[in-house]
Amino acid sequence: MERIDLSTVAVTAGRPARVPDAPLNTPIVPASSFVAGGPTEYAREGGPTVEAFESLVAGLESVNLPHAAQAIAFSSGMAAAEAVLDLVPLHGRVIAPTTTYTGVAVRLRELHAKGTIELTLVDVTETARIGSELAAGADLLWLESPTNPLLEVADLPRLLAAAQAAGVRSVVDNTFATPVLQRPLEMGADLVLHSATKGLSGHSDLLMGVLVTSSTELLEQLHVRRVLLGAAPSPFDTYLAIRGIRTLALRVDRARHSAELLAIRLAEISSVSNVRQFGTMISIELGGNVELAEKFCSRTSIWVHATSLGGVESSLERRRRWSLESEHVPEDLVRLSVGIEDPEDLWADLRQAIEG
Ligand code: PLP
Repeated sequence: MERIDLSTVAVTAGRPARVPDAPLNTPIVPASSFVAGGPTEYAREGGPTVEAFESLVAGLESVNLPHAAQAIAFSSGMAAAEAVLDLVPLHGRVIAPTTTYTGVAVRLRELHAKGTIELTLVDVTETARIGSELAAGADLLWLESPTNPLLEVADLPRLLAAAQAAGVRSVVDNTFATPVLQRPLEMGADLVLHSATKGLSGHSDLLMGVLVTSSTELLEQLHVRRVLLGAAPSPFDTYLAIRGIRTLALRVDRARHSAELLAIRLAEISSVSNVRQFGTMISIELGGNVELAEKFCSRTSIWVHATSLGGVESSLERRRRWSLESEHVPEDLVRLSVGIEDPEDLWADLRQAIEG
């Protein structure tokens, strides 16, 4: 077949060979050691369940590419981020968004404070400014689009082309969009990062990260980072992640439609002063009223007050309750992750919580 849809890849990739009596699903293989003589030998190198997950995610991110990409799984999204940052040479220059996921933002600042990297922070929507920073030379362009939690959108095609022209390695954190809504390798990214903890696996029951690339050389370097940093995922988590990805296209489609509807209705509520929405995510501001934002989060019964995002269950939180969250994020901002419940039930719950 010439080309298949992403929703088909999500169901068919990462399966065992179709031979008589083979299981349809790649089994959980709980092994730290493998008999000598093969390519794996030890679980930090990989293993059957981990490799099935990797080929599945690579298939999703390269569904429209003429070649298959390759993926490498990590024990968390932060572990995947650390592997990328560990490839930056000493005193190398990293260009990164002013607001990006808190953990990445704090880690970048730490590395900068220790003198390990030079760091240039940019507004991810200022394409021309980032273009001139790239032209001045850098070792890594870190992009996140949409950003967490401001949902700012970068002009990825132009930024990634500028990075390529300047010979700067680029990585795009695609956690929020998922490959259903955006595939940065198709736009020229060197690397795509996911916190697979979130929408990819989709059930709030595991912690994992993954990196995808078209470059075999880069994949090998990242493989060495995983082995040496010790950030290998467990076969149990990997099995759950594969199972979650089977329904990725359905989940994202349903949640995105609900998010669009809810964003329109939230904008009509007088105490809501600003609404942003991208894919399955919504961020609202409540006219500077932090107390209202806190009460709102505690008054819902279907929406669960919890951090993280991308699960089948809708969740919400005031991001600045975390002391490390960027000061660029408004104090009253509540981030909502839309799940797959009935949209009218979700709306009724939000309305009673705000109006109450
Ligand atoms: N990137 C984004 C956009 C995130 O939201 C997160 C976690 O919230 C991470 C990376 C880090 O992933 P993990 O929590 O799996 O380490």
